[in-house]
Amino acid sequence: MSFLFKGGRFLNPRLDTLQDGIEILVEGGKIREVSDHPIKSSSAQVIDLGGKVIMPGLIDCHIHVFLTEVNFAYLEDVPLTMLTAQAGMLMRNMLMRGYTTVRDTGGADAGIRDAVAHGLMLGPRLFVAGAPVSQTGGHGDFRKRTQSRFECKCCSALAFNARVADGVSDVIKAVRDELRKGADHIKIMCSGGVASQSDPLESVQYRLDEIEAACEEADRWGKYVSAHAYSAEAVRRAVSCGVRTIEHGNLMDEDTAALMAEKGAFLVPTLVAYDSMKRRGKDFGMTEYSLRKNKTVIEGGLRSLEMCRKAGVEIGFGTDLLGQLQNDQSREFLIRSEVLSPAEVIRSATITNARIVRQEGLLGELVPDAYADLIVVEGNPLQDLNLFQDEGAHIPFIMKEGVPVKNTL
Ligand SMILES: [Zn+2]
Repeated sequence: MSFLFKGGRFLNPRLDTLQDGIEILVEGGKIREVSDHPIKSSSAQVIDLGGKVIMPGLIDCHIHVFLTEVNFAYLEDVPLTMLTAQAGMLMRNMLMRGYTTVRDTGGADAGIRDAVAHGLMLGPRLFVAGAPVSQTGGHGDFRKRTQSRFECKCCSALAFNARVADGVSDVIKAVRDELRKGADHIKIMCSGGVASQSDPLESVQYRLDEIEAACEEADRWGKYVSAHAYSAEAVRRAVSCGVRTIEHGNLMDEDTAALMAEKGAFLVPTLVAYDSMKRRGKDFGMTEYSLRKNKTVIEGGLRSLEMCRKAGVEIGFGTDLLGQLQNDQSREFLIRSEVLSPAEVIRSATITNARIVRQEGLLGELVPDAYADLIVVEGNPLQDLNLFQDEGAHIPFIMKEGVPVKNTL
Protein backbone atom coordinates (compact mmCIF):
# COMPACT_ATOMS: atom_id res chain seq x y z
CA MET A 1 0.00 0.00 0.00
CA SER A 2 1.17 3.53 -0.69
CA PHE A 3 -0.17 6.83 0.60
CA LEU A 4 0.36 10.42 -0.47
CA PHE A 5 -0.19 13.07 2.23
CA LYS A 6 -0.89 16.59 1.00
CA GLY A 7 -2.56 19.82 2.11
CA GLY A 8 -1.07 19.69 5.61
CA ARG A 9 1.46 21.58 7.67
CA PHE A 10 4.71 19.68 8.34
CA LEU A 11 6.33 19.45 11.75
CA ASN A 12 10.01 18.61 11.43
CA PRO A 13 11.26 18.21 15.02
CA ARG A 14 14.66 19.61 14.02
CA LEU A 15 13.02 22.99 13.34
CA ASP A 16 11.12 25.35 15.63
CA THR A 17 8.38 26.25 13.18
CA LEU A 18 5.97 24.41 10.87
CA GLN A 19 6.55 24.16 7.12
CA ASP A 20 3.74 24.56 4.59
CA GLY A 21 3.40 22.94 1.18
CA ILE A 22 5.26 19.72 2.05
CA GLU A 23 4.02 16.46 0.54
CA ILE A 24 4.95 13.02 1.84
CA LEU A 25 4.87 9.73 -0.06
CA VAL A 26 4.72 6.48 1.92
CA GLU A 27 5.46 3.17 0.21
CA GLY A 28 5.93 -0.30 1.67
CA GLY A 29 6.05 0.86 5.27
CA LYS A 30 8.74 3.47 4.65
CA ILE A 31 8.87 7.17 3.82
CA ARG A 32 9.75 7.26 0.13
CA GLU A 33 9.75 11.00 -0.56
CA VAL A 34 9.33 14.31 1.28
CA SER A 35 9.10 17.30 -1.02
CA ASP A 36 8.07 20.94 -1.19
CA HIS A 37 7.00 20.26 -4.80
CA PRO A 38 3.88 18.26 -5.71
CA ILE A 39 4.69 14.52 -5.70
CA LYS A 40 3.30 12.38 -8.51
CA SER A 41 2.18 8.83 -7.83
CA SER A 42 -0.35 6.87 -9.86
CA SER A 43 -0.99 4.17 -7.28
CA ALA A 44 -0.93 6.02 -3.95
CA GLN A 45 -4.07 6.68 -1.94
CA VAL A 46 -4.21 10.47 -1.52
CA ILE A 47 -4.88 11.75 2.01
CA ASP A 48 -5.85 15.42 2.13
CA LEU A 49 -4.83 16.76 5.53
CA GLY A 50 -6.98 19.90 5.25
CA GLY A 51 -4.44 22.11 7.03
CA LYS A 52 -3.78 19.74 9.94
CA VAL A 53 -0.26 19.07 11.20
CA ILE A 54 1.64 15.94 10.17
CA MET A 55 4.60 14.84 12.29
CA PRO A 56 6.60 11.77 13.30
CA GLY A 57 5.00 9.34 15.73
CA LEU A 58 5.97 9.91 19.37
CA ILE A 59 8.57 7.78 21.17
CA ASP A 60 8.51 7.11 24.92
CA CYS A 61 11.86 5.82 26.20
CA HIS A 62 10.79 4.69 29.66
CA ILE A 63 7.67 2.57 29.98
CA HIS A 64 6.76 -0.82 31.46
CA VAL A 65 4.08 -2.84 29.67
CA PHE A 66 4.39 -5.67 32.22
CA LEU A 67 4.13 -3.49 35.36
CA THR A 68 0.37 -3.70 35.27
CA GLU A 69 -0.15 -2.87 38.96
CA VAL A 70 0.83 0.25 40.92
CA ASN A 71 1.58 -1.88 43.97
CA PHE A 72 4.11 -4.49 42.81
CA ALA A 73 3.00 -6.94 45.51
CA TYR A 74 -0.26 -7.47 43.60
CA LEU A 75 1.71 -8.74 40.59
CA GLU A 76 2.32 -11.97 42.47
CA ASP A 77 -1.34 -12.85 41.91
CA VAL A 78 -1.40 -11.97 38.21
CA PRO A 79 -1.12 -15.08 36.00
CA LEU A 80 0.91 -14.80 32.80
CA THR A 81 -2.18 -15.11 30.62
CA MET A 82 -3.79 -12.14 32.38
CA LEU A 83 -0.50 -10.23 32.25
CA THR A 84 -0.33 -10.62 28.48
CA ALA A 85 -3.91 -9.44 28.08
CA GLN A 86 -3.33 -6.43 30.35
CA ALA A 87 -0.12 -5.55 28.49
CA GLY A 88 -2.08 -5.77 25.23
CA MET A 89 -4.53 -3.18 26.48
CA LEU A 90 -1.78 -0.87 27.80
CA MET A 91 0.09 -1.06 24.47
CA ARG A 92 -3.01 -0.39 22.38
CA ASN A 93 -3.76 2.68 24.49
CA MET A 94 -0.18 3.98 24.10
CA LEU A 95 -0.40 3.61 20.33
CA MET A 96 -3.75 5.44 20.30
CA ARG A 97 -2.12 8.34 22.18
CA GLY A 98 0.30 8.68 19.26
CA TYR A 99 3.29 6.66 20.58
CA THR A 100 4.44 4.50 17.69
CA THR A 101 7.63 3.35 19.46
CA VAL A 102 8.36 2.68 23.12
CA ARG A 103 11.39 1.49 25.04
CA ASP A 104 10.48 -0.87 27.86
CA THR A 105 12.98 -0.38 30.67
CA GLY A 106 12.30 -3.63 32.45
CA GLY A 107 9.76 -6.42 32.23
CA ALA A 108 8.80 -6.80 28.59
CA ASP A 109 10.58 -9.66 26.86
CA ALA A 110 11.38 -10.54 23.27
CA GLY A 111 8.15 -12.55 23.09
CA ILE A 112 5.82 -9.60 23.49
CA ARG A 113 8.06 -7.41 21.32
CA ASP A 114 7.89 -9.95 18.51
CA ALA A 115 4.15 -10.53 18.99
CA VAL A 116 3.60 -6.83 18.23
CA ALA A 117 6.13 -6.86 15.37
CA HIS A 118 4.32 -9.82 13.78
CA GLY A 119 0.95 -8.09 14.07
CA LEU A 120 -0.46 -10.51 16.65
CA MET A 121 -1.06 -7.63 19.07
CA LEU A 122 -1.73 -3.95 18.40
CA GLY A 123 0.88 -1.67 19.95
CA PRO A 124 3.92 0.53 19.45
CA ARG A 125 7.12 -1.13 18.25
CA LEU A 126 9.00 -2.21 21.36
CA PHE A 127 12.62 -2.13 22.45
CA VAL A 128 12.93 -4.39 25.50
CA ALA A 129 15.28 -4.96 28.43
CA GLY A 130 13.95 -8.30 29.63
CA ALA A 131 14.15 -8.58 33.41
CA PRO A 132 15.96 -5.70 35.17
CA VAL A 133 19.02 -6.82 37.15
CA SER A 134 19.19 -5.82 40.82
CA GLN A 135 21.41 -6.56 43.79
CA THR A 136 20.00 -8.38 46.81
CA GLY A 137 17.88 -5.89 48.73
CA GLY A 138 17.97 -3.49 45.78
CA HIS A 139 15.20 -1.80 43.80
CA GLY A 140 14.39 -5.06 42.02
CA ASP A 141 14.36 -7.42 45.02
CA PHE A 142 10.63 -7.73 45.70
CA ARG A 143 10.83 -10.16 48.62
CA LYS A 144 9.13 -9.15 51.84
CA ARG A 145 11.31 -8.66 54.92
CA THR A 146 9.84 -11.83 56.36
CA GLN A 147 11.04 -13.85 53.37
CA SER A 148 14.59 -15.19 53.30
CA ARG A 149 14.48 -17.45 50.30
CA PHE A 150 13.37 -16.79 46.75
CA GLU A 151 10.13 -18.68 46.34
CA CYS A 152 9.13 -19.69 42.87
CA LYS A 153 7.31 -16.80 41.14
CA CYS A 154 7.79 -18.09 37.65
CA CYS A 155 4.06 -18.42 36.91
CA SER A 156 3.27 -14.85 38.00
CA ALA A 157 3.83 -11.39 36.55
CA LEU A 158 6.62 -10.83 39.07
CA ALA A 159 8.92 -13.24 37.26
CA PHE A 160 9.34 -10.79 34.38
CA ASN A 161 9.89 -7.69 36.42
CA ALA A 162 13.23 -8.28 38.11
CA ARG A 163 16.04 -10.71 38.75
CA VAL A 164 18.61 -10.57 41.52
CA ALA A 165 22.33 -11.04 40.88
CA ASP A 166 25.23 -10.32 43.25
CA GLY A 167 28.95 -10.25 42.55
CA VAL A 168 30.74 -9.87 39.26
CA SER A 169 30.25 -13.44 38.06
CA ASP A 170 26.52 -13.53 38.81
CA VAL A 171 25.96 -10.11 37.22
CA ILE A 172 27.81 -11.30 34.11
CA LYS A 173 25.65 -14.40 34.01
CA ALA A 174 22.40 -12.43 34.43
CA VAL A 175 23.34 -9.94 31.71
CA ARG A 176 24.41 -12.71 29.31
CA ASP A 177 21.17 -14.53 30.04
CA GLU A 178 19.01 -11.48 29.22
CA LEU A 179 21.01 -10.94 26.02
CA ARG A 180 20.53 -14.61 25.13
CA LYS A 181 16.78 -14.15 25.55
CA GLY A 182 16.80 -11.27 23.09
CA ALA A 183 17.06 -8.05 25.13
CA ASP A 184 17.65 -4.86 23.11
CA HIS A 185 19.36 -3.24 26.11
CA ILE A 186 20.14 -4.16 29.72
CA LYS A 187 18.59 -2.50 32.74
CA ILE A 188 20.37 -2.40 36.09
CA MET A 189 19.32 -0.84 39.39
CA CYS A 190 21.95 1.58 40.73
CA SER A 191 20.03 3.29 43.54
CA GLY A 192 17.02 2.99 45.79
CA GLY A 193 13.61 3.40 44.23
CA VAL A 194 10.14 4.67 45.06
CA ALA A 195 8.01 1.59 44.44
CA SER A 196 10.29 -0.92 46.21
CA GLN A 197 9.72 -1.59 49.91
CA SER A 198 13.11 -2.40 51.48
CA ASP A 199 15.66 0.01 50.00
CA PRO A 200 16.23 3.59 51.17
CA LEU A 201 16.04 6.06 48.30
CA GLU A 202 19.56 7.34 48.99
CA SER A 203 21.09 3.85 48.96
CA VAL A 204 23.74 3.44 46.28
CA GLN A 205 23.37 0.04 44.66
CA TYR A 206 25.92 -2.25 42.98
CA ARG A 207 29.68 -2.11 43.36
CA LEU A 208 31.68 -0.44 40.61
CA ASP A 209 33.09 -3.76 39.42
CA GLU A 210 29.56 -5.15 39.09
CA ILE A 211 28.38 -2.15 37.03
CA GLU A 212 31.51 -2.31 34.87
CA ALA A 213 30.95 -6.01 34.27
CA ALA A 214 27.35 -5.41 33.14
CA CYS A 215 28.45 -2.65 30.74
CA GLU A 216 31.26 -4.73 29.28
CA GLU A 217 28.99 -7.71 28.63
CA ALA A 218 26.34 -5.56 26.97
CA ASP A 219 28.91 -3.70 24.92
CA ARG A 220 30.51 -6.86 23.54
CA TRP A 221 27.03 -7.98 22.44
CA GLY A 222 26.48 -4.67 20.63
CA LYS A 223 23.99 -3.50 23.27
CA TYR A 224 24.08 -0.96 26.09
CA VAL A 225 23.13 -0.55 29.74
CA SER A 226 20.47 1.75 31.14
CA ALA A 227 20.51 2.39 34.87
CA HIS A 228 17.87 3.33 37.38
CA ALA A 229 19.52 6.06 39.50
CA TYR A 230 18.31 9.01 41.56
CA SER A 231 21.18 10.54 43.53
CA ALA A 232 24.14 12.38 42.00
CA GLU A 233 26.45 9.77 43.53
CA ALA A 234 24.54 6.86 42.00
CA VAL A 235 24.48 8.60 38.60
CA ARG A 236 28.18 9.46 38.77
CA ARG A 237 29.18 5.87 39.56
CA ALA A 238 26.97 4.45 36.81
CA VAL A 239 28.16 6.84 34.12
CA SER A 240 31.82 6.47 35.02
CA CYS A 241 31.47 2.69 34.60
CA GLY A 242 29.98 2.98 31.11
CA VAL A 243 26.21 3.21 31.60
CA ARG A 244 24.72 4.89 28.51
CA THR A 245 21.30 6.07 29.72
CA ILE A 246 20.38 7.30 33.19
CA GLU A 247 16.76 6.74 34.09
CA HIS A 248 15.07 9.35 36.36
CA GLY A 249 18.18 11.20 37.73
CA ASN A 250 16.03 13.43 39.93
CA LEU A 251 18.68 14.32 42.51
CA MET A 252 21.53 15.48 40.26
CA ASP A 253 24.26 18.00 40.98
CA GLU A 254 26.17 20.20 38.53
CA ASP A 255 29.42 18.20 38.51
CA THR A 256 27.53 15.03 37.70
CA ALA A 257 25.60 16.75 34.92
CA ALA A 258 28.94 17.91 33.46
CA LEU A 259 30.29 14.34 33.68
CA MET A 260 27.23 13.02 31.83
CA ALA A 261 27.72 15.56 29.07
CA GLU A 262 31.40 14.66 28.80
CA LYS A 263 30.66 10.92 28.59
CA GLY A 264 27.79 11.41 26.12
CA ALA A 265 25.31 9.74 28.47
CA PHE A 266 21.59 10.42 28.01
CA LEU A 267 19.24 11.49 30.79
CA VAL A 268 15.71 10.06 30.61
CA PRO A 269 13.59 11.97 33.15
CA THR A 270 10.22 10.48 34.04
CA LEU A 271 8.55 13.39 35.83
CA VAL A 272 4.94 12.42 35.30
CA ALA A 273 5.45 9.21 37.28
CA TYR A 274 5.88 11.16 40.53
CA ASP A 275 3.11 13.62 39.73
CA SER A 276 0.76 10.75 39.02
CA MET A 277 1.73 8.68 42.07
CA LYS A 278 1.23 11.74 44.25
CA ARG A 279 -2.25 12.41 42.87
CA ARG A 280 -3.52 8.87 42.37
CA GLY A 281 -1.07 6.34 43.84
CA LYS A 282 -3.01 5.82 47.06
CA ASP A 283 -6.15 4.80 45.15
CA PHE A 284 -4.26 1.85 43.70
CA GLY A 285 -2.59 0.57 46.87
CA MET A 286 0.62 2.60 46.96
CA THR A 287 2.17 2.27 50.44
CA GLU A 288 2.93 5.18 52.81
CA TYR A 289 6.64 4.33 52.54
CA SER A 290 6.54 4.70 48.76
CA LEU A 291 4.54 7.93 48.95
CA ARG A 292 7.13 9.41 51.34
CA LYS A 293 9.98 8.53 48.98
CA ASN A 294 7.95 9.95 46.10
CA LYS A 295 7.83 13.30 47.88
CA THR A 296 11.65 13.52 47.87
CA VAL A 297 12.11 12.77 44.18
CA ILE A 298 9.25 14.96 42.97
CA GLU A 299 10.97 18.03 44.41
CA GLY A 300 14.24 17.48 42.51
CA GLY A 301 12.85 16.44 39.12
CA LEU A 302 12.50 19.71 37.24
CA ARG A 303 15.65 21.14 38.84
CA SER A 304 17.74 18.18 37.63
CA LEU A 305 16.27 18.47 34.16
CA GLU A 306 17.20 22.15 33.94
CA MET A 307 20.69 21.45 35.31
CA CYS A 308 21.34 18.75 32.70
CA ARG A 309 20.01 20.86 29.87
CA LYS A 310 22.35 23.68 30.88
CA ALA A 311 25.30 21.28 31.04
CA GLY A 312 24.52 20.08 27.49
CA VAL A 313 23.30 16.59 28.41
CA GLU A 314 21.06 14.99 25.79
CA ILE A 315 17.61 14.62 27.30
CA GLY A 316 15.23 11.84 26.30
CA PHE A 317 11.53 11.57 27.01
CA GLY A 318 10.22 8.95 29.45
CA THR A 319 7.20 8.45 31.69
CA ASP A 320 7.59 5.27 33.82
CA LEU A 321 3.93 5.06 34.78
CA LEU A 322 2.76 1.98 36.61
CA GLY A 323 -0.36 0.00 35.77
CA GLN A 324 -3.52 1.99 36.17
CA LEU A 325 -1.67 5.33 36.05
CA GLN A 326 -0.56 4.93 32.44
CA ASN A 327 -3.33 7.11 31.05
CA ASP A 328 -1.35 10.09 32.44
CA GLN A 329 1.43 9.36 29.89
CA SER A 330 1.20 12.57 27.86
CA ARG A 331 1.06 14.84 30.91
CA GLU A 332 4.86 14.50 30.74
CA PHE A 333 4.71 17.07 27.91
CA LEU A 334 2.91 19.59 30.11
CA ILE A 335 5.15 19.13 33.16
CA ARG A 336 8.33 19.62 31.11
CA SER A 337 6.93 22.73 29.47
CA GLU A 338 7.55 24.51 32.79
CA VAL A 339 11.28 24.57 31.95
CA LEU A 340 11.51 23.62 28.25
CA SER A 341 9.94 24.98 25.06
CA PRO A 342 7.37 22.78 23.28
CA ALA A 343 9.87 22.29 20.43
CA GLU A 344 12.48 21.01 22.88
CA VAL A 345 10.06 18.56 24.49
CA ILE A 346 8.92 17.30 21.07
CA ARG A 347 12.57 16.87 20.02
CA SER A 348 13.17 14.72 23.10
CA ALA A 349 10.16 12.54 22.27
CA THR A 350 11.21 12.05 18.64
CA ILE A 351 14.79 12.66 17.49
CA THR A 352 16.63 12.23 20.81
CA ASN A 353 14.66 9.13 21.71
CA ALA A 354 15.40 7.67 18.27
CA ARG A 355 19.10 8.09 19.06
CA ILE A 356 18.62 6.42 22.44
CA VAL A 357 17.18 3.31 20.75
CA ARG A 358 19.91 3.62 18.09
CA GLN A 359 17.48 4.18 15.22
CA GLU A 360 18.57 7.63 14.10
CA GLY A 361 17.22 8.37 10.63
CA LEU A 362 14.81 5.41 10.85
CA LEU A 363 12.55 6.61 13.65
CA GLY A 364 11.63 9.98 15.16
CA GLU A 365 11.63 11.95 11.91
CA LEU A 366 9.97 11.81 8.53
CA VAL A 367 12.85 11.53 6.07
CA PRO A 368 13.36 9.22 3.08
CA ASP A 369 13.96 5.59 4.17
CA ALA A 370 12.63 6.17 7.71
CA TYR A 371 9.78 3.97 8.91
CA ALA A 372 6.42 5.50 8.07
CA ASP A 373 5.47 6.08 11.72
CA LEU A 374 3.47 9.29 11.76
CA ILE A 375 0.58 11.12 13.36
CA VAL A 376 -1.75 13.91 12.29
CA VAL A 377 -2.63 16.54 14.90
CA GLU A 378 -5.57 18.97 14.90
CA GLY A 379 -3.47 22.07 15.52
CA ASN A 380 0.11 23.12 16.15
CA PRO A 381 1.82 21.24 19.02
CA LEU A 382 4.72 23.72 18.86
CA GLN A 383 2.25 26.19 20.32
CA ASP A 384 -0.02 23.93 22.33
CA LEU A 385 1.11 20.70 24.00
CA ASN A 386 -2.48 20.13 25.16
CA LEU A 387 -3.02 18.64 21.71
CA PHE A 388 -1.31 15.48 23.03
CA GLN A 389 -3.72 15.19 25.97
CA ASP A 390 -7.14 13.50 26.22
CA GLU A 391 -6.10 10.01 25.10
CA GLY A 392 -5.42 10.91 21.48
CA ALA A 393 -8.67 12.85 20.98
CA HIS A 394 -6.81 15.54 19.02
CA ILE A 395 -4.88 13.01 16.90
CA PRO A 396 -7.28 11.87 14.17
CA PHE A 397 -4.77 9.79 12.20
CA ILE A 398 -2.02 7.41 13.34
CA MET A 399 0.16 5.33 11.02
CA LYS A 400 2.69 2.71 12.10
CA GLU A 401 5.12 1.30 9.55
CA GLY A 402 2.89 2.40 6.69
CA VAL A 403 -0.33 0.93 8.14
CA PRO A 404 -3.05 3.32 9.35
CA VAL A 405 -4.06 2.19 12.85
CA LYS A 406 -6.45 5.10 13.44
CA ASN A 407 -8.22 7.21 10.86
CA THR A 408 -11.02 9.61 11.68
CA LEU A 409 -9.95 12.23 9.16
ZN1 LIG B 1 10.94 2.39 35.28
